[in-house]
Amino acid sequence: MTKYIMALDAGTTSNRCILFDKKGNMICTAQKEFTQIFPKPGWVEHDPNEIWDTQRAVAMEAMNKAGAMPEDIAAIGITNQRETTIVWDKRTGEPIYNAIVWQCRRTSEFCDSLKDEGLTDWFHGKTGLVLDAYFSATKLKWILDNVKNARERAERGELLFGTVETWLIWNLTKGKSHVTDYSNASRTMMFNIHELCWDKEILEKLDIPECMLPEVRPSSSILGTTDPTVLGGPITIGGAAGDQQCALFGQTCFDPGSVKCTYGTGGFLLKNTGNEPVDSNNGLVTTIGWAIGDNKVTYALEGSIFIAGASIQWLRDQLRIVESAPDSEYMAKKVKDSGGCYIVPAFTGLGAPHWNQYARGTIVGITRGTSKNHLIRATLEAITYQVNDVVTAMEADSGIDVTELKVDGGASMNDLLMQIQADITNTTVVRPSIVETTALGAAYLAGLAVGYWNDPEDVKSNWQVDNKFVPQINADERAKRIKGWNRALRAAKAWAEED
Ligand code: ADP
Repeated sequence: MTKYIMALDAGTTSNRCILFDKKGNMICTAQKEFTQIFPKPGWVEHDPNEIWDTQRAVAMEAMNKAGAMPEDIAAIGITNQRETTIVWDKRTGEPIYNAIVWQCRRTSEFCDSLKDEGLTDWFHGKTGLVLDAYFSATKLKWILDNVKNARERAERGELLFGTVETWLIWNLTKGKSHVTDYSNASRTMMFNIHELCWDKEILEKLDIPECMLPEVRPSSSILGTTDPTVLGGPITIGGAAGDQQCALFGQTCFDPGSVKCTYGTGGFLLKNTGNEPVDSNNGLVTTIGWAIGDNKVTYALEGSIFIAGASIQWLRDQLRIVESAPDSEYMAKKVKDSGGCYIVPAFTGLGAPHWNQYARGTIVGITRGTSKNHLIRATLEAITYQVNDVVTAMEADSGIDVTELKVDGGASMNDLLMQIQADITNTTVVRPSIVETTALGAAYLAGLAVGYWNDPEDVKSNWQVDNKFVPQINADERAKRIKGWNRALRAAKAWAEED
């Protein structure tokens, strides 16, 4: 009897390993941070070897902590920071350049030139994405254009491309599996989400040789077996998916229409839209949620907010008006509202659904009576207004109200924040007892592939409510507050406009 499923959670700032049991309980966890490399303003890189070394180290550490042998582990599931781009030598396994991280803006100008060519709709129609430096395609092109001999070598079949899960699987299997899953492929801006294959026209446009791309497989399927020397014995790799898609799965949002919101550094709303891709007219991207075995692909609509919990870090580290992120709750509770003050944390522009890269942070409505507690409350409120804007866009795209929001991520532990969200969005906010939904989603995908769990219904019973928040303000009050937010948003956008 195998005892555990191992989830490898390859994040942006750290790699983690969590062992789960059949009930979805966390048996033990291990975590290691890795270096963030900022070669120039707006550029972000990681060392791929450090990603691999830390990931392997935490896997070993978690097994040691639990006293688990490879044969105690039914399967490994991987979830990862998405879009981050790695190219390596097929023979030696050495990366030819650092990983270019999803946050890196080095290809913004190139993306602008593609927009100027009128290709925005062309890319969107094929990939479901907005044409942006965020996604992998232009990062890969940058490596091929800028590393000596890279394109020639890639054309000769000497180089491989992968996002982080592909890189980890390749290393876990010592080069036997060069694979990705549908959800990660859908974030590369090279994958046709309708035809479910690498898009030859995009590859041609960007001059990317197809032979360097991984094989695309279902998110819950056997992706390989670890080389016995890596973790002390062979272990089946049963699944992989991008972090936000895994969170949607870990929240058991299996039914079309169900929505989750992750409140981490940024905020990420995903909605399951079933077996058909839904095109957004309201600034959301269409993406692939997952595919289980040979079943049809499940699609999702996604809205990403750049600054969510990060605005609380700003209160703590820059303004220094809270000592710790959790303190924001009790301090904001000292005032009954923000006293007419609004903060728009557009520190790096605005993401979905506004997509304005020039907007900047703005505070409006300050009076002589505005205290630090009002500012803290206004910051919490701003997170909820941004989430509400994405929910409103989702409702406009589908014509159906979001009646329940499943939440997770670090800042979801803030009860006041969750209550304000319920009030502003007029929806029930539900927080599960296990908020590590990303790792849990990866575990579920892997466990389903090897029969540790029989079907998605089997894991649904693991999902337990920790707390529910129901709306407590009336429609007039809600409308008044949202009107104020919209005025503040206009101010943030106007500030960026030159005379
Ligand atoms: P990530 O996975 O993006 O690193 P986490 O899910 O670990 O993020 O959440 C961390 C973020 O949540 C930080 O930005 C932090 O400021 C914020 N945060 C954590 N706890 C609270 C809290 N109780 N109230 C408000 N914000 C919080």
